[in-house]
Amino acid sequence: ESVEQLVERLCAKIPDHPEPGVLFRDLTPLFADADGFRRTTDALAEAFRGRFDFVAGIEARGFLLAGAVAYASGTGIIPVRKAGKLPRETYREEYVLEYGSAVLEIHTDDVPRGSRVLVLDDVLATGGTLGATAQLLHRAGLHVAGFGLVMELTELRGRARLGGHRVRALYRV
Ligand code: IMP
Repeated sequence: ESVEQLVERLCAKIPDHPEPGVLFRDLTPLFADADGFRRTTDALAEAFRGRFDFVAGIEARGFLLAGAVAYASGTGIIPVRKAGKLPRETYREEYVLEYGSAVLEIHTDDVPRGSRVLVLDDVLATGGTLGATAQLLHRAGLHVAGFGLVMELTELRGRARLGGHRVRALYRV
């Protein structure tokens, strides 16, 4: 079974969540499967091997991936958090969601400027979340080594919002 098939098999589809008309992809069965989780995180680490100095995980599901990929690749980790969670000075980016807006933050000085950072999250949808994360890293003087996703919802064309950065999604649907 390929990693792509594994992700497809262990992704639950929830119709009309969180609102009518949306088919929500839930990867918790994949993360709960020992082989699924190991192969997923290994594949993400391998796709960017030698290209990054730190891993950034996006709250909350990106944290699950980032911890394992950082451990597997011998790097440190940066949390990209929702508004108001980080205790020291932060950079802050507000971005537009389908309904309303959201804010993401990183500490200004967690890692040295000039470091190459691999950004991880579970699902790429419209690209708003990863686009805002790229802005945060840029403001902190960090290089985006790439974006690693378990799943990409291609019809939302999020990739187009991610500039020329390297994007690797294990399963594209
Ligand atoms: P975007 O900013 O529109 O690309 O949405 C991406 C963010 O929303 C990520 O943090 C995802 O975890 C979450 N997200 C959007 N759609 C889904 C989905 O179908 N399943 C799981 N997470 C999703």
